[in-house]
Amino acid sequence: MSKMLLLFSLGFACLGADVMPPVQDQRLAREIYQEMIESKSGFTTGSTTSIAEAVAARLKAAGFPAADIFVGGANPRKANVVVRYHGTGARKPLLLLAHIDVVEALREDWTTDPFTLIEKDGYFYGRGTMDDRAQAAVWIANLIRYRHEGFRPNRDLIVALTADEEGGGPYNGVDWLLKNKRELIEAEYALNEGGRGELVAGKRVSNDISLSEKTFANFRLEVRNKGGHSSRPVPDNAIYHLAGALYRLSSFAFPFRLNEVTRAYFQQMAKIEKGPLAADMAKVAEGSEEAMRRVGAASAAMNAALRTTCVATQLEGGHAVNALPQLAAANVNCRVLPGLRCVRVQDQVGEQ
Ligand SMILES: [Zn+2]
Repeated sequence: MSKMLLLFSLGFACLGADVMPPVQDQRLAREIYQEMIESKSGFTTGSTTSIAEAVAARLKAAGFPAADIFVGGANPRKANVVVRYHGTGARKPLLLLAHIDVVEALREDWTTDPFTLIEKDGYFYGRGTMDDRAQAAVWIANLIRYRHEGFRPNRDLIVALTADEEGGGPYNGVDWLLKNKRELIEAEYALNEGGRGELVAGKRVSNDISLSEKTFANFRLEVRNKGGHSSRPVPDNAIYHLAGALYRLSSFAFPFRLNEVTRAYFQQMAKIEKGPLAADMAKVAEGSEEAMRRVGAASAAMNAALRTTCVATQLEGGHAVNALPQLAAANVNCRVLPGLRCVRVQDQVGEQ
């Protein structure tokens, strides 16, 4: 997942009873998952084609007609796979999306082989175990299970597993399908990665659905100076000016802002949360700024859901240990709430 996500949950229900699928279906899901994790599909060095082809072969073996399966993409290394599971057609299709490429993984950065699925202490390890092969494997395993069980939904279910979500686009993956095979993925709406389930001490707490994403904007702050020799310093110093600006930025915060989704999220989560945080979350939903301040201070994630944020992420400056700097620069990375324009963020950062 390359983007910062804004996660909200709506209308979830806690599932008390054991709802795990039959053992053979769990086994199948695990097998598909492992096959995906162990395929090298780094977006620049790997290929999604082997995964797309393996999925197509599994679907055919499970009885899906070849006419309902499409494998293809922008080039031979960037295959997507699209499969249609037929429903009654009473409603327009539902599109289930997941990407099968992964961010690069260097063996030396990992304590385990990133392309070997390892299960340890209740967790899976491997590149793409979360992002996004779990979802891809679940979609396919479920589709095969539906077929075995003879499930007939009231609409077609389309699963599209795509290339190049993590980079390498813009004309591969979903873009390529939209431009070249739109009829295959035309749907009433789509479910994509971004939401997640929350589990506390083994208990299912919520199933979060992400309805919108924050956008991001990077700003480069630059201070230039004529420089000079470090043996004759003057107060007019590029690094000091930049440091001052960043210090002011560090104490600046965008105003809190609720929208209908965050309001619903805090309303619902207040019912499950315990202690003072629960009461504060309910107050957040009512618009209390005081409560937002407390909730934001207690949780970086909730703070980020309630406001646009900007933070310094990179610094550069100076060109020699014995010279006054002629350049000092910083990158400021902002995550912008839906509905707020980047230019407005720029103005507010600039005012600091
Ligand atoms: Zn992702």
